[in-house]
Amino acid sequence: MTQFARPAFLDSGPKRLLIDGKLVDALSGERFQSISASTGEVVAELALAGPEDVDRAVAAARAAFEGPWSRFKPAERQAILIRLAELVDREFDDLALLDTMEMGRPITASRGLRGMIQRSLHHFAGAATMIHGQTLGNSFPVELLSYTLREPVGVVGAIIPWNGPLFSAVWKVGPVLATGCTVVLKPAEDAGLSPLRFGELCLEAGVPPGVVNIVTGKGGTGAALSAHPDVDKIAFTGSCETGQRIIQASAGSVKKVTMELGGKSPNIVFADADIDALIPSAAMGVFNNSGQVCAAGTRLFVERPVYEEVVARVAEFGAALKIGPSLDPATQIGPLVSARQYERVSSYMELGPQEGARLVSGGHRVTGGELDKGHFVAPTVFADVKDEMRIAREEIFGPVASILPFDDFDEVIKRANATRFGLAGGVWTKNIDKAMTAVKRIRAGSVWVNHYFAMDPAVPFGGYKMSGFGREGGFEHIDAYLQTKGVWIRTYS
Ligand code: ADP
Repeated sequence: MTQFARPAFLDSGPKRLLIDGKLVDALSGERFQSISASTGEVVAELALAGPEDVDRAVAAARAAFEGPWSRFKPAERQAILIRLAELVDREFDDLALLDTMEMGRPITASRGLRGMIQRSLHHFAGAATMIHGQTLGNSFPVELLSYTLREPVGVVGAIIPWNGPLFSAVWKVGPVLATGCTVVLKPAEDAGLSPLRFGELCLEAGVPPGVVNIVTGKGGTGAALSAHPDVDKIAFTGSCETGQRIIQASAGSVKKVTMELGGKSPNIVFADADIDALIPSAAMGVFNNSGQVCAAGTRLFVERPVYEEVVARVAEFGAALKIGPSLDPATQIGPLVSARQYERVSSYMELGPQEGARLVSGGHRVTGGELDKGHFVAPTVFADVKDEMRIAREEIFGPVASILPFDDFDEVIKRANATRFGLAGGVWTKNIDKAMTAVKRIRAGSVWVNHYFAMDPAVPFGGYKMSGFGREGGFEHIDAYLQTKGVWIRTYS
């Protein structure tokens, strides 16, 4: 590492689980290594939580849910969230560094999330004192006052992916603290460090023991959590296949479930769009975080008159991005997270030409010097992609754009919707009617017009179709951690 001081967090020996306010080893004593995506070096050793550790974390979360935490006033939970935001800001450079060291997102991009993380924690803090039920009229024959109470859903199992570790931890733990739930958070095996450090900061901010528990581990740890009979809700972000397994596992105790899964989002460019403005946005809509983003706009539909121009300019933009080690502040494209992810992405890069797509740029691994240590992939553009090709249908989770020409409005909307996913979509046009009609007709949880990727904690984000259900962001996010109780009181006048 060059100009960045190593986070002190890494110098305190193997990382342990956070259960009931204490750092503990796994009962089995097992550990696993976290490997830097960029350098291949071991970043840290982490405890591998087994089902018995998940049991004790859930027991701690249950005890905390029923204990003093249940008597915290909304303003007290709000104060904790405000304090937590301050601590996260204090530690932000280290937290960003931990993410970059592990999963390889370029350091400048990791650091660029500071504002979003702060806004998110402030949003959850604000929500803590905004939770309210309703008074409802009723037509029962005798006089009864009816109203609703909003109550925390209970013990939440949160399972997160590796592509945005700190952000995901904040978006799972924030609503827990706002609503008075408790949580057992299972980070991804490739990125457990910033969630663990965030867990420690929760304690420092005054979160009582047992309210936030963190169990690092692999798929089996997540499976134990999603099948656990004493977990009331699972909040999951990750792949569609794992989400399906979690839904099945959660059926045993009929858990409430929210799922933020994959996508193959369409980004539609009409010929009247501002081409100069859209090129960087459409390109980064695919190449950002090396394409390891669930909402990536990987199916770029371009109206025929501007098709060749957009193909050439997106390819040119991608080719000019600086690929480099994650810790170099000039780096724009870092490595893929792991060898496993590289195998997946490279298989699609080979498949493209076999299926008849035209490779315009990229399509290969980038090596030489420090880059030999990670799996760096050049931003890749396939043109003349057909809807039925697998590169147009399946989520690649790499920096691979599939560009498809179209001729007609109805045609492109139909093709954009011809996918099992429905996470996001983009529309580029100066024609307001076209834009508004496309917004209505695209079957996806987020649609951006003349933009791609804007996100804010106040605005709901989530999937239609197999991209999941439930929303994160907006008040629906908070709602998903609450139950509604209908209350009836006999009154006499
Ligand atoms: P990826 O394949 O890219 O790692 P996943 O969706 O499998 O993405 O992983 C997201 C999260 O789900 C990770 O924390 C992972 O450990 C966890 N996970 C993997 N398999 C399971 C499972 N069967 N049950 C619950 N969680 C799982």
